[in-house]
This record gives sequence, structure tokens and C-alpha cells, in this order.
Amino acid sequence: MCGIVGYVGAKAPIPILVEGLKRLEYRGYDSSGVATMNGEGKVFVHKRAGRIRDLEHSMPGECPKANVGLAHTRWATHGEPNDANSHPHLSHDEKIAVVHNGIVENHSSLRTMLMGEGVAFRSDTDTEVIPHLIARFYEGDLETAVKRALHLIQGTYGIVAMHSEEPDKLVVARNGSPIVLGVGDSEMFVASDAPALVAHTKQVVYLEDGEIAVLSPEGFRTTDLSDRTIQKDVNELDWEIEEIERGDFEHFMLKEIHEQPLSIDRGLRGRAMSDFGDAKLGGLNLDRRAFFDIKRVCLIACGTSLHAAMAASYLIEELARIPCAVEIASELRYRNPIVDANTLYFAVSQSGETADTLAAMREVRRKGGIVLGVVNVVGSTIARESDGGMYIRSGPEIAVASTKAFTSQLLALTLFALKIGRMRDLSSTAGKQLIHALNELPDQITTVLDQSDSVKEIAHSILDASYVLFLGRGGNYATALEGALKLKEVSYIQCEGFAAAEMKHGPIALIGDGTPVIFLCPRDHLRDKTLSNMEEVKARKGRIIAVCNPGDERVMALADAYIEVPETHNLLTPFLTVIPLQLIAYHAALALGLDVDKPRNLAKSVTVE
Ligand code: GLU
Repeated sequence: MCGIVGYVGAKAPIPILVEGLKRLEYRGYDSSGVATMNGEGKVFVHKRAGRIRDLEHSMPGECPKANVGLAHTRWATHGEPNDANSHPHLSHDEKIAVVHNGIVENHSSLRTMLMGEGVAFRSDTDTEVIPHLIARFYEGDLETAVKRALHLIQGTYGIVAMHSEEPDKLVVARNGSPIVLGVGDSEMFVASDAPALVAHTKQVVYLEDGEIAVLSPEGFRTTDLSDRTIQKDVNELDWEIEEIERGDFEHFMLKEIHEQPLSIDRGLRGRAMSDFGDAKLGGLNLDRRAFFDIKRVCLIACGTSLHAAMAASYLIEELARIPCAVEIASELRYRNPIVDANTLYFAVSQSGETADTLAAMREVRRKGGIVLGVVNVVGSTIARESDGGMYIRSGPEIAVASTKAFTSQLLALTLFALKIGRMRDLSSTAGKQLIHALNELPDQITTVLDQSDSVKEIAHSILDASYVLFLGRGGNYATALEGALKLKEVSYIQCEGFAAAEMKHGPIALIGDGTPVIFLCPRDHLRDKTLSNMEEVKARKGRIIAVCNPGDERVMALADAYIEVPETHNLLTPFLTVIPLQLIAYHAALALGLDVDKPRNLAKSVTVE
């Protein structure tokens, strides 16, 4: 589930591998390691629990010279994060090194079998069975041995393997865990994610499940597990190196929060048609007439994407007057979903690799449903396997806590809502009003970002709270959920988001003297209702923090502190109310001395169940 990097070519591998691991650091991990060859034709392994800098600092002085190497950042699933459980893992004869992302589901029966054959294990991981199995089948050709071993393995994997007797070769395989090859000049790279490759090459090849690649300095070839050759296209990465660097910002999370005026602008360009009050979405792959048959929309997602989907569902219902359901991907996939021909499904995922969303999408498609992707990473698995979709164009998102992807996902779905709305009852005047408001968002977001100092003060005021409640109505119910998710992800402060009216059905029991309650209260048709909820909090001595529109005196009179966001179209308020919540989470984590970009236990794209 975490990072893989591999290299074969004439350069010293360790600096390339370590730099590649650092590019993947954002994904979250608990240990790291590298393997290459030492001068005597043996595999050299160095691995450590902790940060990549711990690995670097403990590295023996002289880097071995070799043509091949592989490296890993681990996010432990089986066995605690310690040195022994870190990857790479070696075969018992120490000739084969393997890194693995994913889970070997039948590891315990394989372990029992291998132990019965006299193999001694050195770790508690599920992964360690892989190098031992490869060794069991090795007869002078690593590729064949890997294929035979994989026939016995059940579960998910992205793996890279090397053998000391084949020092110019890496064997790579994928089943359920992303793998991308990088094609260089007389050198080849492999990684779990493209950011590890951008500094070296933009020519990439995405492996599909069930594919094996053999890499040498001369190039690569791909087959399936039964040795059938597979021709692969080489794609061009559209990321620039600056996009994956922090620049002048202290953290990726802050950089990405500040990129939202730009990412929204990019998401609108070429898509929002001001003249017609309509949207142009090229990648949907839907016949124009097919839009008339859509009777229901279903958005499938997890985490922040789920909240973006929830916010979007209000827009879709309102603009298109079509029922819109939002489904938690992990629930849908196991619920034997009822798929019908007139429902249009969307799989929403920043990375396009989220395991639960991917599995739900596959299940719906298997049952005949049409699933469109709403993803950021071009060429990701959801992008490739869906029937069409929309790239959200927010640019690489590196921080584990998602921020700009939320607003960009919401934007893509808003444009879809507009398009389908305009094919039904929505007038061109109403469409134009919406587009006018959308075009104003980048500047309005900048206005909110400019208040960073007062938001910081508010963030500092909640550091000691034992509980923080976020409340909103309509689309801002989703924003409340997202604000709470952000805060707990990076600051570990206990918090929850609720629909404002639901407060009375439970969370009100937790409100006492000084309990911070963050209200999202723009001046929309629900504001007066939310004001009543504020009164209820006030009566219980809760501390009201309001996100409101400028000059809203009734809100300001009730609130202990407030943040103003510019007024916008009634349906678009979540684009603006979410910004201060992202900043509150960031500043709270920073003030608590936490590692904002790499919160504990979290990984960037959740590619395991
Ligand atoms: N399941 C493996 C382990 O726990 C791989 C984890 C990962 O994907 O980082 O070591």
C-alpha cells in the first residue's frame, strides 16, 4: 500500500532509490529499505523502521556499485513496524530480494508449507513468503520463478524482485496495487506512483492486473502469468517537477490549500461555457441521447471524496432534478448492489487507485452498470477501467490530508450537474448565473486565504478542546463532515461533523462550558434554521465559531468568533466554507507540533481494503 521504487541502469542505484522514496514519503509509511548488489555479487540490504532520513543516516559509508536496485516504504499490515519486518525481504539463500505492496491473503498456509520444507523465516510479514517461494521455483531464470510463485499467491500485490545471479534485471508484477514503469535512456525505472519517476523520465507505462514486466537497461517486455506477450503503450506524464515540490511553503498541505484558486480555474477552463450557461465535458463517452435515459445518479467514494460527493449530490438534485445517492464504496461493494440500466454511476477518487472504490466500480460494471470516473491522477486504474469520466485537474496532491482535490471533485461534479440540468429544466439564464458564480470562485477563495492569520487564532483557541463539533445544513452538512475529518486527520483532536438539526438527536449531550462548535452558516435559505441551532449551543455555554458571510450581524452577535467568506450562489457555498476549515486543521496541527503532511497511521491513497 505504500511506496516502491526500482532502478536498472548504469548509474549508482542507491541515490536514485532514496530520492525516489522521498518523493513518495507523502504517502505515509512506517519504515523503509533498499536492496542492491554488493561488490562480491551478493545482495546488499539495508532497512530501518522510522523515517527515510533514519535509513539514510544509518547507511554504510560506501554505496555499493551495481546496476540494479529496489526500495520500499512500508505501511505495515502484517507484523509491527520494526527493522526485521521492513522490506526488502530476502529468500533463505539470500540471493533474491523482493519489495511488496499489498497483502498476501494466504500467507499463513504458504508459511506453514515453506516451514515444513525447512525454510526459516526472519519476519512476521505476509510478504516474506514471496522471496522464499520464488527461490523454491528458481532454476536460473527469475522471470519464470516469479510467475510460478505468483500462481500460488492469493491477494493483492505490486512487487519488484531481483536476483544476485541476474544482476541486470528486475522482475515486476501487479495485481491490485499500482505499478508504473519509467522508460529512460539505457535505463529503466519502476515505482508504485509516478512522482517517484518525474525527475528522471516522463515516458511511463502503466501495468495492469495480471501483468509481469521484465526490466533491463535496454528496455522492458511484458507478459501475463501464462507467458503470453502483451504490447503496452508508452504514455507521457503531464506533471512538472515543480508541482511535486513544496516551493516556498512550509508544508504540502498549506501549498495545496493555497493552490485552490488555480486548481478551480484550471478545472473551469474549456469546460464552463458562459455563452450558453452550459458545461462541456469531453470525456464522459455518453451519447447525447443517453442523458435523457438517466433516471438516477449514484456517487461512489470514500473519505474526503465521499464528502465532495455528498456536497455534489445536493447540486445534482437541485440543478438536474434527478435523485442522487451517495454510497460508501466499501459498503456498496459487499452489499450485492442493485444495479439498474437508468442509473449513472460515478467512482470518485483523487488517486484513482482507492481499493474500495475500485472494487465497488468493478462490481457495478460487472453487473452491467455504466461507471464514470472522477479522478485526479491521469492514467490511474479507475481512469483506465471506467467507461469514461472527468479528470479533476487539480495537479498532483502530495499531502496525505486531501484539500484541493475536494474542491476540484466538487467542481467537476458541479459541471456535470449543470450539463445534465441544462438538458432538462434548467434555463440558460440560471445556467449563466451559475457559471458567473463559478468564475468568481478563484478570487473569492483568495479572499478567504488572505484571512489566514485570524483563522490561525481560531485554530489556536481549540487546541485544548476535548471535543469539537462541526455543524452545517444542505451542502454544508458535507462541508461540516469534511472539516471534522480534516481536523482529526492532522491534529488528532476528537471531533465530529453533523447535520445541524441532528445536534439535538445526540451530540448536544457533549456540549458544555466552552465546547467549540463550528457552524457553517452562509446567508442562504437555511440560515435562520442554523441560527436557532446556534441559540441552542449558546444556551448550553458552548463556544460558537461561525463561518458566515460578510456583515451578517445576527450570526456575528451570537458567535464568539467568526470567519467571513464572500457571498456566492446558494448552491456553491461549500467551495468557500471549506477553505477556513482546511486552514483550521492545518494551523491546529502545526501548533501541536505534529507532522502535518504525514499524519500518523494514515496513507495517501488507500490501496488496501
Ligand atoms: N503487507 C505487507 C507488510 O505488512 C506490505 C505492506 C505495504 O503495502 O507497505 O509488510
